Formats: sequence, C-alpha cells, structure tokens
Amino acid sequence: MQKPLLMTPGPTFINEEVRSALAQPITNPDLDPNFFEFYKSTCEQFQKLLRTQNDILILSGEGILGLEAACASLVEPGDRVLCIDNGIFGKGFGDFAKMYGAEVVYLSTDYRNAIDIKALEDFLAKDNSFKMATLVHCETPSGITNGIDKICPLLKDYGILTVVDSVSGIAGEKLEVDEWQIDIALGGSQKCLSAPPGLTFMSISEGAWSIMTERKSPIVGYYVNLYLWKNWYQNKWFPYTQPISDIFALNKAVEIVLREGNFVDKHFKIAAAVRKSFQAAGLELYAKGGYSNTVTTVLMPQEITFAQLFDEMLITHHIMIAGAFDVLKDKVFRIGHMGENCKEEKVYITLKALNEVLCRNGVKLKGEIHELFVRFYK
Ligand SMILES: *Cc1c(COP(=O)(O)O)cnc(C)c1O
Repeated sequence: MQKPLLMTPGPTFINEEVRSALAQPITNPDLDPNFFEFYKSTCEQFQKLLRTQNDILILSGEGILGLEAACASLVEPGDRVLCIDNGIFGKGFGDFAKMYGAEVVYLSTDYRNAIDIKALEDFLAKDNSFKMATLVHCETPSGITNGIDKICPLLKDYGILTVVDSVSGIAGEKLEVDEWQIDIALGGSQKCLSAPPGLTFMSISEGAWSIMTERKSPIVGYYVNLYLWKNWYQNKWFPYTQPISDIFALNKAVEIVLREGNFVDKHFKIAAAVRKSFQAAGLELYAKGGYSNTVTTVLMPQEITFAQLFDEMLITHHIMIAGAFDVLKDKVFRIGHMGENCKEEKVYITLKALNEVLCRNGVKLKGEIHELFVRFYK
C-alpha cells in the first residue's frame, strides 16, 4: 500500500524515532516495577508540557475516550452542566454529559468565530449554578482556537469545574493548565504529538478528584472510570493491562516536543503564512477570527466538489487532505499543519498540489498559493 503524504488534522505523520520506540521489546506492564516508573516519568513529561502540577493519566483509547471518561466520572444524574458550543466538537461534548444524566444547558455562539467572552460573562451573570462546564480549546473542524485563558478563570470565579478538550491544541497552542485553572485538560496521541492513534491523556485537578470522591452515586462504567486510577502508583496497580508499545511511542513523542522547545511558535508561524496565502489567492477561510495554529479550514470554491478535490490530491499528488463532517460536510477542505506536518517543505508541497488541482478545475486564483506561502513564511 503506497502511503500518501498525510496532511490531515490528525492522525499525523509519525517519525522514525517514535516508530522505533513503538517497536521496542516489551515487558509485562502489570508486573514490571520498571514500567510503573516509566509510566510515571511519561506523566511527568506531560506535566511539563501542560504546565501543571496536577495528576496526569494516560488511558488506552483515542481522544473521544477522554471526553467520555471526564463526563462519566464527574457527572451525576441531574447535575447541571454548561456546554459551551461554538463548533461541532463543542456541541458534541454536551452529548456525553447527557449520556451520564446531566441536565445540559448550551451556550451556543457563532461557529465562525472564537467564543465571545462578553457573551459568556453576560450569560453567567444571569445563570451560573452549574457543576461543570465543557468546552473545546481548538475546534478542529472549523479551525478555530478559543481563548481558554480567559474563559476558564471566569468559570472558576463562579465555582464551575472546567473540562477542556484540547485534543488538537496541546503542543500546538499555548496551554497553561494551572494558571488558567483547568480542572481537566485532555488530549490525544495522534494530533500535534504525532504519535500513533489510540491514547488519550489528561490532567486532573484536586477539585476534580474531590468531585469523584464525594459522589453520591457510583460511576457507571469501567474504562471510563477515572477514579479507579486514583492511587495507581502507590498501589502499583493499573485497572487493565497497559498498551505498553503505544506508551513507549507517546513517551518519545512528548520528549521530542519538549526537546524542540519552540513548538507553539513554530505552529503559529506556519499557520499564519498558510492563512495569508489562501486569502491572498482569493479563497475564503471558514474562520473569521480566533484562527487555529494547528489546522486551517477553507470554504470549498464553487467550481469543484470536496470529493473531487480529495481524490485528485490523493490520486494525482499522493497527498491526503481532509474535509469535515456534520454541518461542515462538503462545505470545506482542511489542511492539518500540526506536529510532524508543521514543516515548511510539507506545507509547500501540499499548497503547490492544491494550487494545481484547483486551477485545473477552473478555480480562478489571484496568485499561486505555494508561491504566496514562500513569501509570507519568510
Ligand atoms: C480529533 C479530536 C477528537 C477525537 O476525535 P476523533 O474524531 O475520534 O479523532 C476530539 N476532540 C477534538 C477537538 C479533536 O480534534
């Protein structure tokens, strides 16, 4: 099977170092004392990356498991949960809270802009009796990053627990879990960290642990029960056999991000140049503000369908780009410039191919997208 150049907003390309880590010989992760230390040291790396002293857990399951586990462990039937919704993932987060019995109240704002902090302030001034709020850091389908630096402290002023999906934000967007008072910040292995899909990780504050301790009803579910992990290190016990190879890979991936140091700046710079190039070429971005560092979403030009664009990019140029789903299905195309994809050469090659496919299909561009990129990236 020929492997395309993967330019989707996750999964992303996995580099040699991470793949070698994945292929290491394994031990029995339930029994080997060294593995408990290794898992712990991986959590400590995440504490550095997320800028937190809170406990970290790595769970066997993709990012979605993190969202569901947070809701399953924190929500009791009848709890009021505020679902802050300015995008597909933001809205969907509310479904998980409902599944575990929450009475979900939505604050829905414009899908083409970041969450309006003023709208949230006004909303909370009238209604703030919520146990927790769910929100998304980077809305991957629309390419919008929300100002969680302002939103989370505001929610905490009202004593509301903050649960943030930063699956496509972590490592590509600034994140200060402790300073911004985020009770649960969760991510996935396959986005900016560029590790294989299959793991979710999260930070858990003392406040979030207390909510679990003080629950009246038991947590429903086993894989989604975070409380089972409470003293895993002291007890040298995991709730299930750990996916040791995936954790080897993830550990190496975080090490690389920390080693490079300027990861967020690098993402910012590439993203800014990509946006300017599309705009200067006459294409319209879906986002009107709050632009993401990790993914760019462009409205489909009328001359071509998404299916045609996807196929020609893949078949003729061996490059895989993404569309979107739900309300954005067939309306946009997306380029993921995150993690291993956040590289000038890869972005250039992708934009050059896009330029060719769009022109071939009759889209009138005001300039060559890839040449504009070279200019703006300098
Ligand atoms: C990728 C992603 C997830 C995980 O969802 P999948 O569609 O299963 O990959 C969750 N939240 C956000 C914001 C994501 O970008």
